[in-house]
Amino acid sequence: MNTRLQGEIHVKKGKIIDFIEKQGYVKILNEKEEFFFENSFAFNGFTDHHGHIIGLGRSMYFVNLADCSSAEECCEKSLRSPQIYSEWIIGYGWNHENWTKKEIPDKKIIDKYFPNNPVYFLRIDGHTAWVNSKALKLADIGANPKNPPGGKILTDESGFPTGILIDNAINLVNMLIPKLTENDLKNFIIKAVDELVRLGITEVDDMDVDPNYLKIFKDLDEKNHLKIKVNSFIKAQNDEYLKLNLKPVIYKNLSIKGIKFYSDGALGSYGAALINPYSDNKGTSGLLLISESDLFEKCKRGLNMGFSIATHAIGDLANRLVIDVYSKLSGYFQSEIPELRIEHAQIIHPDDLKKIKILTDKGQKIIASVQPIHCISDAKMAKKRLGSRTRYSYPWCSLKKSGASLIFGSDFPIESPDPLISVYALLNRIPFNENKSWYPNETLSLINALAGYQSKFSLNDDLNNNYLKKNNPADLTILDKNLFELDKEKVQTAKVIATFVRGERIY
Ligand SMILES: [Zn+2]
Repeated sequence: MNTRLQGEIHVKKGKIIDFIEKQGYVKILNEKEEFFFENSFAFNGFTDHHGHIIGLGRSMYFVNLADCSSAEECCEKSLRSPQIYSEWIIGYGWNHENWTKKEIPDKKIIDKYFPNNPVYFLRIDGHTAWVNSKALKLADIGANPKNPPGGKILTDESGFPTGILIDNAINLVNMLIPKLTENDLKNFIIKAVDELVRLGITEVDDMDVDPNYLKIFKDLDEKNHLKIKVNSFIKAQNDEYLKLNLKPVIYKNLSIKGIKFYSDGALGSYGAALINPYSDNKGTSGLLLISESDLFEKCKRGLNMGFSIATHAIGDLANRLVIDVYSKLSGYFQSEIPELRIEHAQIIHPDDLKKIKILTDKGQKIIASVQPIHCISDAKMAKKRLGSRTRYSYPWCSLKKSGASLIFGSDFPIESPDPLISVYALLNRIPFNENKSWYPNETLSLINALAGYQSKFSLNDDLNNNYLKKNNPADLTILDKNLFELDKEKVQTAKVIATFVRGERIY
């Protein structure tokens, strides 16, 4: 393996046309230039299979609340750097699970700091908004509010809204925030991509893309300002893409590839749909956001148009629903459907793993698009929410055994996009701030980890053959260390030295 990562890589028209193995360096020669990296190693470029490019740009632009350790600190940080958008104060990334007092916050805290401006703080998972009285007033949410379908407005004992809005209720306030301008969005994309290439990422499956924003991506791509390959999965829960008459298409670096659905919410905010109630809140089992028949019809329509399908599923009930729908689709279409993806695939009941096995045995691949970093950053919370169900949570090795194709991503900006942190999670499953592996039987090998971070993926592919192969696109990440020679606890110490897309240096 060692020598295969070093040598001279000849590139023509964006593809590897020749690779001559050498020891001790990597040299990349395209039509115009050559690049020399001593004591370095060339890896296939990393593809993050689940990220949110505009979300990343936005989180770098507005107040980032991820590192705050209390509700007050979130407000203080926003007060210190008030990024006022129109009259709104906007912040992203709060996580009460990381606070000293692990309680869901309420409007009163924000009201003290911001009595006059509407405030919108989105939780790290994007499934809960924490707003103040001014924002509630503008949204006309008063006493004893009616929950919108698929959403919840939390209220106190007297029926007054507490300022916490879950899932579809978020829209009631979010829709009041003035739309971002085209220029804002362009800047978000450029900023986000600059961050991604720094981490060695050459391609992204961009999730939940607002179909109205595709034009901006396309403009950037036409002007050669989209440095990495972006495969868009468009929002489709409410058939958003149909009005714009979109079809799958490949431009230069941009492709419109798939449509994205949600079957449930997130674990942290009790929105993930479980078969049995939450272990730390027996009053709820979460929330399904779509019915089986609706999802089936929506998928069928999208597949007939040539789109790939990606459906968010976290809880075991949600995963069950999605697997059942995919089984029905496979029966309906009879020939193999190229891309049926489950996004997150976090908690999967063993009975449903068997269903995946039956499907894959019949020749229908199910893609589990997994974010390994969620496992090591959410372990503590997941143990509380799930109790004994943790034994079938984040079941990477079990999914692989069931025949599912595993692909990996980070869900940035919810988590760091750094692929090496995810690789570390896959190999070790050691939660942050702990030192013991959590269900080590579910870890994967480095070969599997890297395979799932590739653009053209298949765990059955021999990675040795797939590396720096002739005719492969010259999308490369140059690291200062050989991951195969590092202790598995140390993989994330490797540094990205350069990133190439189509043989052009972009970092
Ligand atoms: Zn996501």
